[in-house]
Amino acid sequence: THFGYETVTEGEKQERVAGVFHSVAESYDKMNDFMSLGVHRLWKDHFVSSLNPGATNPPGRPQRILDVAGGTGDIGFRMLQRAHEFNGNPNVHVTISDINPSMLAVGRQRSLSLPASHQSSLSFLEANAEVLPSSLKDNSLDLYTVAFGIRNFSNIPAALREAHRVLKPGGVFACLEFSKVDKYPLLNAIYKRWSFSAIPLIGQLVAADRDSYQYLVESIERFPSQEHFRDMIVDAGFAVAGEGYEDLTGGIAAIHRGIKP
Ligand code: SAM
Repeated sequence: THFGYETVTEGEKQERVAGVFHSVAESYDKMNDFMSLGVHRLWKDHFVSSLNPGATNPPGRPQRILDVAGGTGDIGFRMLQRAHEFNGNPNVHVTISDINPSMLAVGRQRSLSLPASHQSSLSFLEANAEVLPSSLKDNSLDLYTVAFGIRNFSNIPAALREAHRVLKPGGVFACLEFSKVDKYPLLNAIYKRWSFSAIPLIGQLVAADRDSYQYLVESIERFPSQEHFRDMIVDAGFAVAGEGYEDLTGGIAAIHRGIKP
């Protein structure tokens, strides 16, 4: 297809990904709802509540969170809501970073409707996850999150090493990403049909952009299995508990977590 880039270089992949997210930025939130039938909201809610930002011991201790590939702010905003409102900890700061200024611009605009206290605990940063800027210091963060972003990276091991660099010892790496449904053949068959035929069509009808949504589907297909990705996290120096991941909706998505020792 148009995006069949097995043989393209890292730089070319990065350019194509930039093009995709530039063209989908405006329609991105609406499309997420269509494509996942709204389920992405439940996955994101679960991701954030399971990380439970702001629940510190002693209570109210400051936390620094970096949401990488944060796009239009879905995870970052939920983090602040959970930390400030649910856990009553106003000392939690979230940085939403993304390589794509168009996605960040939509996020910044959306953030204007957040409560003032959330807005003042939020910053935006244009950054490539594979080479985070030196303003993000070694051993400086409590929590690093990446949701539906890492499969787009050209060099995933480099991004994992950067995550490891910026986290404090004891800090948590957490990733929410589409994954493999191999354990449930019937669900897998339905899901494959949905993603390979319906999603590009919806992309064409709703966003007049079939190619970008075709790319999204193919990038999910190419992403490593739960176990393989867990091993990559371990290779980057993180410790994992148990299997190291949690399947959501039969593995359509999965949460991986690692702790910097
Ligand atoms: N995290 C948001 C969410 O869950 O709604 C946005 C996910 S969106 C599918 C993927 C994002 O990854 C896009 O905003 C894209 O610009 C960003 N991205 C792709 N490659 C990146 C890289 N190398 N560094 C940082 N962000 C990147």
